[in-house]
Amino acid sequence: MVEASGATGPPVVRIGVAELRRRPGQRRELRREVDLAPVEVAGSALAGDGRAEADLVLESLSDGIVASGTVTVEWVGSCRRCLGATGGRSVADVHEIFKDRADEQGDASAGALPVEGDGVDLGPVIHDAAVLALPLAPLCDPGCRGPVPDVLPVATPEEPAERPMDPRWAALDELRFDEGDRGS
Ligand SMILES: [Zn+2]
Repeated sequence: MVEASGATGPPVVRIGVAELRRRPGQRRELRREVDLAPVEVAGSALAGDGRAEADLVLESLSDGIVASGTVTVEWVGSCRRCLGATGGRSVADVHEIFKDRADEQGDASAGALPVEGDGVDLGPVIHDAAVLALPLAPLCDPGCRGPVPDVLPVATPEEPAERPMDPRWAALDELRFDEGDRGS
């Protein structure tokens, strides 16, 4: 059920880099709110209007551009244990390299995205990071005990469901401390 891009695909977020590329090592901070096409993974989807916040730094290399930073999304989904509606914010890291088309054939640029003229398109990068940020198996709460904890206990990190009842502890339940008698 991964229909990440659908028919519309990622938006074009074209950023001019001519100025940045005058000198290798120059950096430029970039904050953008980007409206993505509906993005959905198995357990969750982008909330509301499908907005992603990109908080990136572009740095010029001698033969390209590095984009690094984070993409933050708000998501909605169903809890994997109780199936209740849940949601939240999550963040994915971005580290992407854009290189000049001239050395597209070289091994070194394998996996790099192209610098197109004087610009780079951050749309696919932001889109892919938003997909990665979406939780595949969300929880409404880390301690969620499922829809019917008394009948179908769910293992949680805090309290493993499989833990057998130790008969030695049962004896403690029988003990009664009568505070009223103390000190008299
Ligand atoms: Zn839950």
